[in-house]
Amino acid sequence: MKTTDQTQLFEQSKKIVPGGVHSPVRSFKGLHTTPRFIEKAKGAKIWDVEGKDYIDFCMSFGPLILGHANDTVKEALNQQLEKGWSYGACETYSLELAEFLVERLPHIDQIRFVNSGTEAVMTAVRLARGASGRKKIIKFDGCYHGHLDALLIKAGSGLAGTAEASSGGVPASIAEDTLILELGDLEGCRQVLERYPEDVALIAVEPLPANNGLLPQTQEFLQGLRDLADQYGAFLLFDEVISGFRMGFGGMAEKTGITPDMVCYGKIIGGGLPVGAVAAKREVMENLAPVGGVYQAGTLSANPLAMVGGLETLKHMTPAAYETLEKNTQNIVALFKKWFQEFEGGRFKDLGIVQEGSLFWIHPGEAPKKVSQMPHDLADRFKELFEILLNKGIYLAPNAYEVGFVSLAHDDAVIEELRERLWS
Ligand SMILES: *Cc1c(COP(=O)(O)O)cnc(C)c1O
Repeated sequence: MKTTDQTQLFEQSKKIVPGGVHSPVRSFKGLHTTPRFIEKAKGAKIWDVEGKDYIDFCMSFGPLILGHANDTVKEALNQQLEKGWSYGACETYSLELAEFLVERLPHIDQIRFVNSGTEAVMTAVRLARGASGRKKIIKFDGCYHGHLDALLIKAGSGLAGTAEASSGGVPASIAEDTLILELGDLEGCRQVLERYPEDVALIAVEPLPANNGLLPQTQEFLQGLRDLADQYGAFLLFDEVISGFRMGFGGMAEKTGITPDMVCYGKIIGGGLPVGAVAAKREVMENLAPVGGVYQAGTLSANPLAMVGGLETLKHMTPAAYETLEKNTQNIVALFKKWFQEFEGGRFKDLGIVQEGSLFWIHPGEAPKKVSQMPHDLADRFKELFEILLNKGIYLAPNAYEVGFVSLAHDDAVIEELRERLWS
């Protein structure tokens, strides 16, 4: 018989999988407790193998904007299963999703589907280099763009803009082509472009940085990047893998009215199935093979099952849906804030919450705007909070730097249950 002892399952996993996980942030590293093994999920809830349920604010780290196992998506996937799940040939499912997106997103007129956010960004980097004939990339400290070599880069100790690899296995020769700056530092960005006026292919940014806490940037900063990219002939990439279809359907490009040269999507675009996409205007996109000389390919790209999952998810995302999401998130944030004041005579009263749309992030003290302002006690405070909430049946992403995700399944009934669980 299979065990339901989750500590034992984790030990078993660690023997045959590095750290017991297939993505590091699932490992509960730095926490006292070990990962929960999830058996099933529905709506706003997940159940572990011992049968305990949790109100989920991790939501697979973002894709499940409708909640777990949404009925209409499930129905569409079931129908698609009957027709097979991979053809490696042209089909109408990706055409339907591509048309649905291109019609609704004025900043793009072509799109290519890949299998993950990382793959989308990797393609955008190659496309920018191939189309410009330049090689340097500007990125901002605290923005995550997936695990490709060119962007696993942290600030170096030398000149502003110099960088080093943030991961083993990334050669210094690759790191040296990525220039790193602090979020909000337009002047630094201008200086770096002045130093390398003919070399920068791409300025990459999360227009709503949400992978290192939630660090909303100003309109002036994002517009400044647009202007600098134009002035120096670099491409501007909005990495909207989290913010796309979450901060309104058109993400931050729509919200700010700033048109990036390229945009990357992931997470919600597949509704919980593996999909990423790179999109841009036709003259940029047609640098990709088979039209242009920049190679990109994928055995399972535009997988029909994933295309159907994405389309059925996105069809729900009307303006009214975004209003509901935002209102419910405000109610959830208000409950957490009240509970921080009241729990054990104010044990968490120094905690605050940054909220943007249906994302929220809990932090001690003042809300930071860039990595250098991150609270020093962030991880310690999070550890205490996370385990108390977990015991109450409330599941946050198991890391202090990850944001909370609210879905359309987090409705009034779930919010009432959250209240009961918090004050239980
Ligand atoms: C999640 C994420 C990625 C990477 O996507 P994967 O599907 O995990 O490869 C890239 N950029 C941003 C902004 C992300 O949030």
